[in-house]
Amino acid sequence: MNWITKIIKAGEKIKTAIKERASKEDIANSDWTSCCKGPILKKDLEQNLFVCPDCNKHHYISPTQRFDIMFGKGNWNKIESGHPPPDPYEWKDTKKYTDRLRDAKKITGQDNAILSCETKINDIDVVVSAVNFKFIGGSISMAEGENVLTAVDKAIEKKCAYIFISASGGMRMMTNILSLMQMTRMTVGINELRKNNLPYIVIATSPTTGGLTASIASISDVCIGETGATWAFAGRRIVENTEKSQLPENFQTVEWAKEKSGQIDMILDRKDIHPTLGTLLSILLKKNSVITSEQNETAEDSQSLTKVAS
Ligand SMILES: [Zn+2]
Repeated sequence: MNWITKIIKAGEKIKTAIKERASKEDIANSDWTSCCKGPILKKDLEQNLFVCPDCNKHHYISPTQRFDIMFGKGNWNKIESGHPPPDPYEWKDTKKYTDRLRDAKKITGQDNAILSCETKINDIDVVVSAVNFKFIGGSISMAEGENVLTAVDKAIEKKCAYIFISASGGMRMMTNILSLMQMTRMTVGINELRKNNLPYIVIATSPTTGGLTASIASISDVCIGETGATWAFAGRRIVENTEKSQLPENFQTVEWAKEKSGQIDMILDRKDIHPTLGTLLSILLKKNSVITSEQNETAEDSQSLTKVAS
């Protein structure tokens, strides 16, 4: 075999390997995913709330999966919101924006990146919004801003707490300044909750980044970080290049933010989020107390939390 034949054969092997590599669709439709110990059945992971039993990695879940886990299937009602003009700039990059939107709707089954619902926690009314990272990276545009404001209005109407579950790459560049304006709109919405003395709680899941961290995710009364979640504004490489220094391993995680900046109040595993929300809401709204006599010694903390929310 001369060297030309060898190169041709090697090329054919590479071609076959590329062809045989699973596509994103294949991975999504497969019964298997992977974690620290290699392949793991998705149904095994699901039984553990999509958290790896070996390394405690919290795998991504969609808003629908999260609502089903937290509140139970059929125990939450979707809040519909308006449909602003989707593509005022008629944006096109490698693909038309309208095509990206069509694909995102098909993949997620959502009209926009945010899913909001009315439900109860510990028998207390709440309005909850969650961002779907699979919808154009959980980016925020006019429809998402509209969804948040509709959910906030509902919380004010029901005189209940508002919970925002974040997972986003930031504002959506395809709608330019109109996306950036949503940071202000959402902040104004949260201020309306404040005027009505209603608690606002954020659950930062992975990844919470960009304009979302710079607006609605950072202005809560209580901010819960889901174990191991990314919490950042600019990307790690940008910060590294600016600082010209080695950053710590856990930089831009909720654990790091809790320790260094105080932006995160507590870190919780997925399974502990719902019961903790029940306790927090009982304290903040003075309803359906779940505080036992042994926990009365934490009354001082409760008073300070109530003060924070008022
Ligand atoms: Zn693992």
